[in-house]
Amino acid sequence: MNLEQLKRIVGENGWLGESDDLSAYVTEWRGSWHGATPLVLLPASTAEVSAILKHCHAERIAVVPQGGNTGLCGGAVPDESGQQVVVSLRRMNRIRSVSPDNFSLVAEAGCILANLQAAASQVGRLFPLSLAAEGSCQIGGNLSTNAGGVNVLRYGTAREQVLGLEVVLADGSVIDGLRELRKDTAGYDLKQLFIGAEGTLGIITAASLRLFPEVTGVGTALLAVDSAPQAVRLLAELRRSLGDQLQAFELISAPAMELVSRHIADTRNPLDDGPPWFVLLETASGDDGAMLEQELMRATGAGLLSDAVLAKSEAERQALWRIRHAVSEAQKHEGASLKHDVSVPVGAIGDFIDAASRAVSNYCPGARVIAFGHVGDGNVHFNVSQPPDWPAERFIALRADMADLVYREVAKFAGSFSAEHGVGVLKREALLRYRSPVEVELMRRLKAALDPHNIMNPGKVL
Ligand SMILES: Cc1cc2nc3c(=O)[nH]c(=O)nc-3n(C[C@H](O)[C@H](O)[C@H](O)COP(=O)(O)OP(=O)(O)OC[C@H]3O[C@@H](n4cnc5c(N)ncnc54)[C@H](O)[C@@H]3O)c2cc1C
Repeated sequence: MNLEQLKRIVGENGWLGESDDLSAYVTEWRGSWHGATPLVLLPASTAEVSAILKHCHAERIAVVPQGGNTGLCGGAVPDESGQQVVVSLRRMNRIRSVSPDNFSLVAEAGCILANLQAAASQVGRLFPLSLAAEGSCQIGGNLSTNAGGVNVLRYGTAREQVLGLEVVLADGSVIDGLRELRKDTAGYDLKQLFIGAEGTLGIITAASLRLFPEVTGVGTALLAVDSAPQAVRLLAELRRSLGDQLQAFELISAPAMELVSRHIADTRNPLDDGPPWFVLLETASGDDGAMLEQELMRATGAGLLSDAVLAKSEAERQALWRIRHAVSEAQKHEGASLKHDVSVPVGAIGDFIDAASRAVSNYCPGARVIAFGHVGDGNVHFNVSQPPDWPAERFIALRADMADLVYREVAKFAGSFSAEHGVGVLKREALLRYRSPVEVELMRRLKAALDPHNIMNPGKVL
């Protein structure tokens, strides 16, 4: 492998080699995958990315694009062969332009999501994509995984924020598609191919993104409900009455709440521990929650919830969100857990959770289902914690069978085994099993057409 030419392309500050500490680039965020690489390239421009891929295409060198490396499916790290080079976009982090009147901005792929949100906010606009990793993940990674997060209910996933993309193809050619248009029906919508492709079809180098009016005055509440189906009925009722002011609707099971209260300092459940389910919801109404309060009183009267607390200050709002964001952290204190990021049609969430929970307890008595998630858009994080008296390794050995069991229940409800985290290396088998042969074959043909030498993130997704 001729690496000298690659080093010359990016210059002396543009690469890290085997004598550097590369651990952050070859280890997945949770530490579940460790790979090896002889070279991490840090290009500073689209021209450099183009030259890198042109060379790798000619020399058949495998390339792993990397953003913030917060992905949870092993997609952003090289394999163990030591034959794959990493291309980190972190130096390509400029906001190229902001157009408040067009409600759009153009950002380079390495721009950290939180910085992009701040750039929009500086001109009184909102970039609504928001997730717990926003301080480290990059917009290129967000688009490559079609990230979801907490605002999908109102604004849609990452895909729906994109007006145009600049992409470098496997052979180094550049699609200069940074148009900032709402309407554009000129031929196939090529940008969509690269969103959610997890770096297997090309490298996204910049994106033009949709902005929204900034939200002034949010209402945030934690509610107690009797069952997941009741939460779904409440969601339908509030969507009817509040329309698209409803921007987040997160379900938290009682066991998840209990773990947070027990393990995470500075968190407190302001409601009784009694109810089996909690909902954290947020509205953007401009009236600091007055309308939300009125609608919640009506819903209480209709028997759709049993208790509620509204945040009266930004500090109280943050405290409620801390509960939601702390669930994964709290689970770590209970030993090993097997995680399933799945989606089903919103109306089926309650039935799915019941059916999948039954299947889990039949298969592994003592295992504890910790279900929570972005229920407003049908996404459930269906996590299962080990039986308390088991060694962690015994439970982790069930990973593949447990996933299959959960995914079979998902399939019964016409859902998806991958709601928002992507496929990476973790779910390749599931893709083959749960997507139809026609779809998988079409994915393979697209991959072969765009990347005939299979240099783009080989071993991921397909
Ligand atoms: C605490 C925490 C909370 C999270 N919460 C959510 C959540 O609510 N919703 C959600 O959807 N995800 C969530 N995630 C997962 C993760 O943050 C997202 O998948 C995020 O979009 C990944 O961005 P990244 O920049 O870290 O990408 P990386 O992890 O670096 O890469 C992800 C994939 O995209 C590819 N890639 C990266 N950049 C490019 C590029 N420029 N061009 C082409 N391919 C590229 C990589 O090869 C890899 O396959 C969470 C993760 C953590 C750690």
